[in-house]
Amino acid sequence: MLRLTDLKLPLDHPEAALREAIVARLGIASDELTNYTVAKRSYDARRRGAIVLIYSVDVETPREADILRRLQLDAEAAEFAKAGDGGKVMRTPDTSYKFVARAPSELPLRPLVIGMGPCGLFVGLVLAQMGFRPIILERGKAVRERTKDTWGLWRKKTLNPESNVQFGEGGAGTFSDGKLWSQISDPKHYGRKVIDEFVRAGAPEEIAYVSKPHIGTFRLVSMVEQMRATIESLGGEIRFSHRVDDLLIETDGDGVRHVRGVTLDSGEQLRADHVVMALGHSARDTFAMLHARGVFVEAKPFSIGFRIEHPQSLIDTARFGTQAGHPLLGAADYKLVHHCRNGRSVYSFCMCPGGTVVAAASEPGRVVTNGMSQYSRNERNANAAIVCGITPEDFAPYGEGPLAGIELQRYWEARAFELGGGEYEAPGQLVGDFLKGRASGEFGTVQPSYKPGVRLGDLAPSLPEYAIAAIREALPAFDKQIRGFAMRDAVLTGVETRTSSPVRITRGEDGHSLNTRGLFPAGEGAGYAGGILSAGVDGIRTAEAVALDMVSRVAGA
Ligand code: FAD
Repeated sequence: MLRLTDLKLPLDHPEAALREAIVARLGIASDELTNYTVAKRSYDARRRGAIVLIYSVDVETPREADILRRLQLDAEAAEFAKAGDGGKVMRTPDTSYKFVARAPSELPLRPLVIGMGPCGLFVGLVLAQMGFRPIILERGKAVRERTKDTWGLWRKKTLNPESNVQFGEGGAGTFSDGKLWSQISDPKHYGRKVIDEFVRAGAPEEIAYVSKPHIGTFRLVSMVEQMRATIESLGGEIRFSHRVDDLLIETDGDGVRHVRGVTLDSGEQLRADHVVMALGHSARDTFAMLHARGVFVEAKPFSIGFRIEHPQSLIDTARFGTQAGHPLLGAADYKLVHHCRNGRSVYSFCMCPGGTVVAAASEPGRVVTNGMSQYSRNERNANAAIVCGITPEDFAPYGEGPLAGIELQRYWEARAFELGGGEYEAPGQLVGDFLKGRASGEFGTVQPSYKPGVRLGDLAPSLPEYAIAAIREALPAFDKQIRGFAMRDAVLTGVETRTSSPVRITRGEDGHSLNTRGLFPAGEGAGYAGGILSAGVDGIRTAEAVALDMVSRVAGA
């Protein structure tokens, strides 16, 4: 098969136009094009009102050998050649997933996977597919029960610290927009495996080819259940409401530390020589336990800021002009960045078109914002985090050592709780007032979506001064890119502190913790992923590291 990229057609092109473009690119007759499938579809909206669709297609033609010869394309190499029209042609790359190992028939101990977010799910799934019968331990509840607890905070102001937006089956990404793109380098095409497994579990098929796929919350819930069933059918086991509170570590005669199992909150101990830590960024107690047990943990940069809400129609018009509302475009998104005079960078993060702002705390007495949407993305507001990058040097006033970033988060989350009135409402301010430095008293044209509610006031005391100054500078700069972005009535809600993990649980090239053999830090909590897709990819990578180590130990025994 041949892959053609960069086929550009107007947004409303007739279906036949794509076929004609393929035929023209390859210089073949129309009846020599046996079949084609769209591998990727994106759009270029830089010229509003003249939006262009960009396709990559995989093509079957009996002329393939001729074309390869004419373009001097090596039959084996995965490289591009320029066709007559200047566009690109290559052999379709093989992106199918190949397992690296099969479990030996006799395994002394089963691998343990701690956490069932996207990372733990993929560690568990791939290990199960290779026959390793993993046991997944998840502190939260199964996804349906977890949904009730999550809504308990949003509707009744009751937080369950073990079952919420961060903790439970499916992990942090379950109540989300389900955006599935990432800028990670992925030479082994693991992202393709993640997408294929999601489609198998019930995700819309278009996620396999649109350039910025998303799933939305409702679908994610049933997909996670389907993936659980698959893992169990392959001999894996999942235990909910099982929190890992401690590690069993032994040091051998050469002074090398080895993990030997875990202790659960019930006091039960499970023996294992392979323990994957796929904890997510909010497992603060578990990070503290790892640090106390001497596992190598270091502080890492992350970002803090607010959620901003605008009418979705404003974003659609700014991005798509007269073509706003076109079904192929959907609700518009944006990505913005501004480098500030005080040396900070402010950027938009986790943008949720047509979505809602959600309460994302996992500890009592704290307020944290995030965003989610349904597949339809048809709520009236667009929301995104507007955050300022911070580094370990900024953590010093809050504590010492690798966990100081967590103390910074706790401090400002508690401040937000207090400013919101002490009942899980979030503090908020209109953008116009924020820019002028005066408290807000009344909502304008934008009604905030955050539940249980937003208490208007002054957001200046809700974050460090440098972050407030940076965001004040960035909003008018963003308005130059999206007209209306700094509109008076847009609503800011605070605080957004869980943008990524405040720590890295550093691992070596072989996937083991730097100083504890058999412990495999993975996913977002360990600092190796920053979203659903990249967490899934890291899960696959980690499953492979575990499988290869288990096989080599059995072989060496
Ligand atoms: P997590 O998903 O956080 O999973 C970790 C799991 O470990 C949790 O279920 C937790 O309960 C469990 N755990 C922790 N400690 C223990 C312990 N001691 N014992 C047992 N279990 C434990 N990303 C995107 O790419 N697109 C989006 O649209 C998107 N939207 C988001 C919206 C919201 C509201 C949130 C909160 C996040 C969103 N994200 C999104 C980020 C994304 O969810 C995370 O990047 C991703 O879930 C990280 O995966 P993970 O498996 O590494 O960790």
